[in-house]
Amino acid sequence: MLDHVERHVPLEACGLLAGKNDRVQEVILVQNQAQSPARFVMEPYEQLRAFHWIESNGLELLGIFHSHPAGPETASATDIAEAAYEVIHLIWSRVQDRWQARGFWIENGRATEVTLHIGE
Ligand SMILES: [Zn+2]
Repeated sequence: MLDHVERHVPLEACGLLAGKNDRVQEVILVQNQAQSPARFVMEPYEQLRAFHWIESNGLELLGIFHSHPAGPETASATDIAEAAYEVIHLIWSRVQDRWQARGFWIENGRATEVTLHIGE
């Protein structure tokens, strides 16, 4: 995931997180159709294909990730306005040249930070 994020700098990169019981098992990379440093739009065909893949493998869509190569560390107003799925929004941002991931639950026009458990 971080590879994909780094390769797309200065543009935002995005993708999906699939798994079961709140545990991510698969990261699916999706092209950012917007090709923008400030927003992302998942390429619709790839997104649809990914949704089918998730379903046919008995998994659930748990999250959507994207990067903020130039900040902010939190969900942007655009992210909040465009959030279409009730899933965790994982945002990669760079803080003093190091990437960090923070998770947000976006609902009713508000983003609330959630705690992520990375690794085992
Ligand atoms: Zn964003």
